[in-house]
Amino acid sequence: MSTENTFPAATILGYPRIGPGRELKKAVEAYWAGRLDEAGLQHAADQLQDRTVARLVELGLDRGDSSIPADFALYDQVLDATAALGALPARFADLAAEDGSVDTAGYFTLARGDGERAPLELTKWFDTNYHYLVPEIGPGTPFVAVAHGLTATVRRQRERGTVLRPVLVGPVTYLLLAKPEDGAPAGFDPLERIDDAVAAYVGILASLAEAGAEWVQLDEPGLVGDRGGELAAPGGLVERVYRQLAGTAGRPALLVTTGYGTAGDPARPGQALAVLATAGVEAVHADLVRGSRPSAEALQALGGTRLVAGVVDGRNVWRNDLRFSLGVLEDLQQETGTAVTTATSTSLLHVPHDVQAETGLPEHLPAWLAFADQKVREAVVLARGLAGGRPAVAAELQDAEEALGHRARFDGVVVDSVRTRTRGLTEEAFTRGPAERRAEAQQERLGLPLLPTTTIGSFPQTREVRGARAAVRSGSISQSEYEQFLRQEIANVVRLQEGLGLDVLVHGEPERNDMVQYFAENLDGFAATEQGWVQSYGSRCTRPSILWGDVSRPQAFTVPWISFAQSLTERPLKGMLTGPVTILAWSFVRDDQPLGETANQVALALRDEIADLEAAGIAIVQVDEPALRELLPLRSADHQAYLDWSVRAFRLATAGAEDGTQIHTHLCYSEFGEVISAIDGLDADVTSIEAARSRLEVVADLAGFGYSRGIGPGVYDIHSPRVPSEQEISGLIDTALAALPAQQLWINPDCGLKTRGYDETVLSLRNLVAATRAARGSV
Ligand code: GLN
Ligand code: ZN
Repeated sequence: MSTENTFPAATILGYPRIGPGRELKKAVEAYWAGRLDEAGLQHAADQLQDRTVARLVELGLDRGDSSIPADFALYDQVLDATAALGALPARFADLAAEDGSVDTAGYFTLARGDGERAPLELTKWFDTNYHYLVPEIGPGTPFVAVAHGLTATVRRQRERGTVLRPVLVGPVTYLLLAKPEDGAPAGFDPLERIDDAVAAYVGILASLAEAGAEWVQLDEPGLVGDRGGELAAPGGLVERVYRQLAGTAGRPALLVTTGYGTAGDPARPGQALAVLATAGVEAVHADLVRGSRPSAEALQALGGTRLVAGVVDGRNVWRNDLRFSLGVLEDLQQETGTAVTTATSTSLLHVPHDVQAETGLPEHLPAWLAFADQKVREAVVLARGLAGGRPAVAAELQDAEEALGHRARFDGVVVDSVRTRTRGLTEEAFTRGPAERRAEAQQERLGLPLLPTTTIGSFPQTREVRGARAAVRSGSISQSEYEQFLRQEIANVVRLQEGLGLDVLVHGEPERNDMVQYFAENLDGFAATEQGWVQSYGSRCTRPSILWGDVSRPQAFTVPWISFAQSLTERPLKGMLTGPVTILAWSFVRDDQPLGETANQVALALRDEIADLEAAGIAIVQVDEPALRELLPLRSADHQAYLDWSVRAFRLATAGAEDGTQIHTHLCYSEFGEVISAIDGLDADVTSIEAARSRLEVVADLAGFGYSRGIGPGVYDIHSPRVPSEQEISGLIDTALAALPAQQLWINPDCGLKTRGYDETVLSLRNLVAATRAARGSV
């Protein structure tokens, strides 16, 4: 390796992998369906890779200087690391070739399972909406250097004149993200395998150097979590690991990145970077959007190590305040005394490709936005300004400033009537009457049996439902024909539930494409994109809405559907709303005010909807908060502040309800054991919660906490077409009854039935009702 530090002036940590036209998704799904063979998949992936490289060059990165990252995972970057390390859990050992590598079919078997084996578990990547495949590491997991795909990519692009910078999840983060393999001794910590992992990384570095890589990027965002402080302290594990890696003969130069927050001890910002520098790493990255600015002392300790400054937000869609960022970069450059690289705060994986692809945004919005392609340019412009001085980029600075000014002054960003309302809020607006009084009023009104049965809201979104939605969008059926179709669908769903004997019914949500987008479309302050897809996991993409202005509700929008559904039945039918925290978590949210303020605006809009539902005679309203756990900050020290504003927003949405109106909420996608007191703080009358896969673990936590309101632990895992038997559901009901009094329990599935088919749904719900009836007879 050359000792001269040649890291480029501008770079990005990663780029969206899915493709501007979702090319990768389409190719991968065609391969799974058998419509494309392996060579066809490879060809499609190569084409997308060439397109990405060409596009990044066009946007201002350089072919020759390692500024273009090679992160082209077909499914997930953590799965790529598992494959590169040959770190297959024993239950998948048969997938490994002689040298420990997996082929394409094996790679997807890890991701998706096969007939007998469940896939690797999917879990949230830090506090984002991206999900990675969790490595399963035990005392005997193999670690070998088999990064064949990555080396091939580096070679392939080298032949085309591009020196890529291969990207890998770093060894410390890889093991922090892993879980102990089933059967590992109690207390086993995957980090115990660090030396074996490092040996494999050493091998990978050597083969990447041989393939022509001059720089390698190791991502260590794991250091921004609770364990980062200890691990990245001077003399700690990180220092030891990186000394070893830096000591590899003939290796490429190393960039270590730390997105998603402040690496190491948050009270000593930058110390972790200094430690990496001491260990011999050539470049270190800091997230300057979510993380704190490194201290002057830490910056001085970098010595000749290049600082890669993440000033362009990789997680949101707002245009950068270039003047401000340039100021930060100039300060850093002065303090380090050497050149600083301009970069993104994280990979651009979390944002859509290109604002320019949007044709339907409100006119004012595009100029305020930067998707991935615009962010690449921002990094390039900032680097030019840093090297050449402000006059070199005067026009760009001016442009950005005008857009920001326009945004700040635009009608709708600050709406007086909304502000007056949030400003005038008193504690009373967040508080309902006492829970016991509510329970009495509700029981009198609803007269529900012991162990009431219900579902979470959506019924199967069949091909007909999706077809009708597409048809009205393309204009091939009229709006009134579409609404007629929806009414018919709702009537069918209501009749089906009555026939099954469920106690509290739902309308089935056929009018909703997505539980957040539907609300974004019906509230002011939001915009929807057409092409703004971001990868959620594997080939799954979502299209988050953009929350750009003050939020308010022009008119009631769920009421017509809910009252129509209620008019068809004597049984209570639940109004169905998405909660404020979930709406924020799954949208791109304005960055010019605290999230809590925005959440309260959304909450007030929902509060109005609840009042209108009540006025229409609806007795039960469910406010879903599946993402409540998702936004929980990475460090436990920050949890309370988050839970305070998020729980308060939920209460603001629901506390206007009369005593006799039963408020439900629904939580899923996470384990909730550690946030029971926050669940309690929501003060909902009934909470349904995902629990079937963990065999109702959460009921013990709730009982231990002394939770006293209604609770419906899911007794039917809706994540696969499998039909749970009556006996199996009875077993789960018994588990719940053993922990909590029958008067508190509700019986329901884990989550909405949207992704299921009718055949399995009907059989499963029939078993759920039968098991409940049997349980009622025996308590
Ligand atoms: N009410 C929504 C549904 O049933 C809840 C979805 C969710 O929890 N993600 O689809
Ligand atoms: Zn759910």
